[in-house]
Amino acid sequence: MKYIDPHIHMVSRTTDDYHNMALAGCVAITEPAFWAGYDRSSPQGFYDYYRLLTETEPKRAAAYGINHHCWLCINPKEAEDPAFAREVIELIPEFLDKPGVLGVGEIGLNKNSKNELTILEEQIALAAKHNQLVLVHTPHLEDKLKGTKLIIDAIKRNGTIDPGRVLIDHVEEHTVDLVLSEGFWAGMTLYPDTKCTPQRAADIIEMCGTERLWINSAGDWGHSDPLAVPKCRLEMKRRGHTEETIDTISYHNPMKFLSQSGKFNAG
Ligand SMILES: [Zn+2]
Repeated sequence: MKYIDPHIHMVSRTTDDYHNMALAGCVAITEPAFWAGYDRSSPQGFYDYYRLLTETEPKRAAAYGINHHCWLCINPKEAEDPAFAREVIELIPEFLDKPGVLGVGEIGLNKNSKNELTILEEQIALAAKHNQLVLVHTPHLEDKLKGTKLIIDAIKRNGTIDPGRVLIDHVEEHTVDLVLSEGFWAGMTLYPDTKCTPQRAADIIEMCGTERLWINSAGDWGHSDPLAVPKCRLEMKRRGHTEETIDTISYHNPMKFLSQSGKFNAG
């Protein structure tokens, strides 16, 4: 059995995690740029982070036979100061041609503020200009539905990005239909006991089917589980789902979406 974890923040994880993921069948991962648990004090802090994502982390992953890829952006949580955010965005193009860089992400909204929306629009334009795939984060607060609508409207307003090249992550029961019906891909981010658990993800799959849908762990520096994807596979097996359905959601679908970049390699 093999699987892909298309959203996990390995800069915050240990080599033991890589080892356990490899043992569980993980062959490839993609790591979106995110809020590292603290606000960076200068654009240079992002430059160094992008080097970590494009140079250091692929080597760490390769030691466990896992192919590492990444996405670059300034995350919504640090995008409240547009002048600062624009200095960071200017750094991104020089990294886009590096091996393993799949696109722009995880962009999106945190508090649905005006400044966050402005920077979101500018990063959508960056992705469009450089013909990049897009990975989107949706807010965790009670404004998830409103934030998801604002994000979809911003992408549509840009008008040059094919929804089939955009993955909208952190979907839940009340946002998944909206995302899928507009032609986007949807990601279910699995958490150990809050937000979307492996059990809730299995429920959503039973409601929506498997088309344009994937699961990911989003393991990071907080309470999270780098083995959430194999645990969800197990939950689906327990419920009697076929091997084919389980592989579709955790291997074939990520492969299909990510391969649009031309740089994705599942080994
Ligand atoms: Zn994330």
